[in-house]
Amino acid sequence: MGLVDVTTPRKVVVLGSTGSIGVSTLDLFAQAQLDVEILALTAGRNVEKLAEQARRWRPRIAVIADPALLGDLRQRLAGSGIETAAGPDAVVEAAAMGADWVMSAIVGAAGLAPTLAAARTGAVIALANKESLVCAGPDLLAIARAAGGSVIPVDSEHSAIFQVLQRDCLDRVARLILTASGGPFRTWTLEAMAQATPAQAVAHPNWSMGAKISVDSATMMNKGLEMIEASYLFSTPQERIDVVIHPQSVIHSLVEYTDGSTLAQLGPPDMRSPISCAYSWPERLDWPAQRLDLAAYAQLTFEAPDHDRFPSIGIAREALRLGGGAPAAMNAANEVAVAAFLDHQIGFLDIAGAVAGTLERMNSLGDLATTGGDALDNALMTDVSARRIAAEVVGQVHRRN
Ligand code: NDP
Repeated sequence: MGLVDVTTPRKVVVLGSTGSIGVSTLDLFAQAQLDVEILALTAGRNVEKLAEQARRWRPRIAVIADPALLGDLRQRLAGSGIETAAGPDAVVEAAAMGADWVMSAIVGAAGLAPTLAAARTGAVIALANKESLVCAGPDLLAIARAAGGSVIPVDSEHSAIFQVLQRDCLDRVARLILTASGGPFRTWTLEAMAQATPAQAVAHPNWSMGAKISVDSATMMNKGLEMIEASYLFSTPQERIDVVIHPQSVIHSLVEYTDGSTLAQLGPPDMRSPISCAYSWPERLDWPAQRLDLAAYAQLTFEAPDHDRFPSIGIAREALRLGGGAPAAMNAANEVAVAAFLDHQIGFLDIAGAVAGTLERMNSLGDLATTGGDALDNALMTDVSARRIAAEVVGQVHRRN
């Protein structure tokens, strides 16, 4: 990849602009005074925030995924000259407007179709939406490559690996080591975790994130999803990807080489830093980022994950071993189970049980094989059947509780 002139004006699209990553992205644009022309901002349902962002950032179009909210959005942007649109197809069209750089920050499998559409245009994709890689990683990467674009990870762990990976000696990489904060229940007993409430699960100790990824951090399914993401992004089998708990979230991940040398990337826990990297790579932006004060931390600590209390990493390894549609099915089942937990239908420990149960049932029915053909169709078909089975599993757990 050649050097990027970070002062050159760029056309950008921010998918999921109203979420935690979307807001950090727009904040980075302001902090780093980037010369960006925003083609589109998109949101799911938060029409008020989308309209406020649109008035501030003047995109060509503001898109709301929920079609029922189009009238409201139009009213809020009346007289602004900003176009409006609604519905999932309009989000996909926004992704394919021909931007130089697309932030993919929709949460969940809903981000897959827009991310694939952006990949087909040859844009640089800053990928926060890890679920799209989990659902269709190899296809997404191949489509981006074929179109002359690239996928740059925004997840802090993958951004770290991306930054310390020596591309001229990939065959000398021994292990990728993903760090994990351990989430809010790192020190809780299984008995206490069984009683954990949604409010406790979304209260992450280090990062301020959307509700779904916060619950994923608490179950450590986030690390499972990230393992699959890393396996696809860096063409590394799961046997050579390890997870270490590092509660301070200062070391964002590491690459161990065959000569025993291990390279790490460090920084304060602020998502604007990996977003900045994804915007300027292989250049660097100069903006008033918070700097790391190692002495203020005094201690950086590490521990092995406890797989009895946090079975999700093992479930993700199994999904990678099964291959085919298993990662997409795991992701869909997890989305259903997390939503049921946030809705007080099932307990915290039931989330991993529901995901494992869905995978088992689909595997025994032979539903995890992929048929070749279109990446999006395959992933969506698996997604739909996994959601149906996961809803049944969740319903059984709910009735039993
Ligand atoms: P949020 O829940 O804060 O934001 C999600 C965004 O997606 C919002 O703009 C939301 O709109 C939009 N959205 C939700 N549902 C749909 C839909 N069906 N169609 C279109 N848009 C939709 O999530 P985060 O910002 O925390 O996370 C976004 C992605 O980034 C996730 O994949 C997450 O795993 C990943 N990520 C997040 C990190 C973080 O620090 N937050 C770190 C690393 C990765 P609305 O506001 O209207 O609901």
